[in-house]
Amino acid sequence: MKTAEMTDKEKTQQVWAKRPIVISGPCSAETEEQVIATAKRLAATGKVDALRAGIWKPRTKPGMFEGIGAKGLPWLQAAKKATGLPTAIEVATAKQVEDALTFDVDILWIGARTTVNPFSVQEVADALRGVDVPVLVKNPINPDLELWGGGVERIARAGVKDIGLIHRGFSSYGNTQFRNAPMWHLAIEMKLRYPELPIINDPSHICGNRDGLFDVAQKAIDLDYDGVMIESHIDPDNAWSDAKQQITPERLKEMLEAIVWRKESKDNSQLQGGLEKLRQQINHLDDEMLQILSQRMKIADKIGQYKKENNLTILQTNRWQEILDKMMAKGEKLGLSKDFIMKYLDAVHLESINHQKNIMDAS
Ligand code: PEP
Ligand code: MN
Repeated sequence: MKTAEMTDKEKTQQVWAKRPIVISGPCSAETEEQVIATAKRLAATGKVDALRAGIWKPRTKPGMFEGIGAKGLPWLQAAKKATGLPTAIEVATAKQVEDALTFDVDILWIGARTTVNPFSVQEVADALRGVDVPVLVKNPINPDLELWGGGVERIARAGVKDIGLIHRGFSSYGNTQFRNAPMWHLAIEMKLRYPELPIINDPSHICGNRDGLFDVAQKAIDLDYDGVMIESHIDPDNAWSDAKQQITPERLKEMLEAIVWRKESKDNSQLQGGLEKLRQQINHLDDEMLQILSQRMKIADKIGQYKKENNLTILQTNRWQEILDKMMAKGEKLGLSKDFIMKYLDAVHLESINHQKNIMDAS
């Protein structure tokens, strides 16, 4: 079937079934020119399947750009007409769903700040009753899989057939490397809980900057995600929201070309079976554990500094015994043997003492 002969619905279904699916576009629709120019440049890459744009922007603090509103919806219609790209936007209220559908938006998503609120998700779900449009549910800003799953189930109960997940990372206080820590193990757990749902990664909101996008996107593909949603802008530095993390459509093309799409190669299909996937999951978890251990030792350094300044001993026996008891009990509940927990804690403790000792000895 030729694209030109397809209806919007057929085209959207084709995109929904494509792997990997690539969704891109600006964080926010700003002007008609910006939306259409972005869409054209994205379409020219030949690598983008759907155009995203934020119309209503839930901002953490008031007084910032909160989205252009319904006025931007005809711009998306025009962009679709010019490029053939199905459109995708975030919705958070019944009215927004209604407006989006009036202007033929093809794919809807529920944002991270909405997934946290069951009242809002339910309102959106009720507005979607009887509507045949794919809906993506972003993870809630806090690392709570029950809430994420609850969002999915509310949408499913409203009768929506095509539901997908977007992993955009979790807000974590004090984290400096990511805007929203990916906590890959949570997304992997979500994949296990809902194996039938496609899961898309959103490196833009995980990284909060341009530098990390490639690595996060590659990691997601290695973890067998079904696609990516990456923000792009014709003039990223001057974007009205999320300027630091947006890239030009041309840069996006380069990035997508550099990614190794492991699923694409047919030659080593056996390796791509269960074992390879499981090994990749193990590798990523090991990686994450190292990062966490390194963070732990940085805190040990601070403790060492404090103890030095206050003339306290490094080893505080009571405190160590408390940690041991608590962790042994916890570890057992999590299916880890006492013997292992003991060895692990000893090693961590020793490393921590060495870190503190180095600080103490430093002049
Ligand atoms: C967005 O996609 O622009 C957005 C607001 O994302 P999130 O809901 O993940 O913060
Ligand atoms: Mn954004």
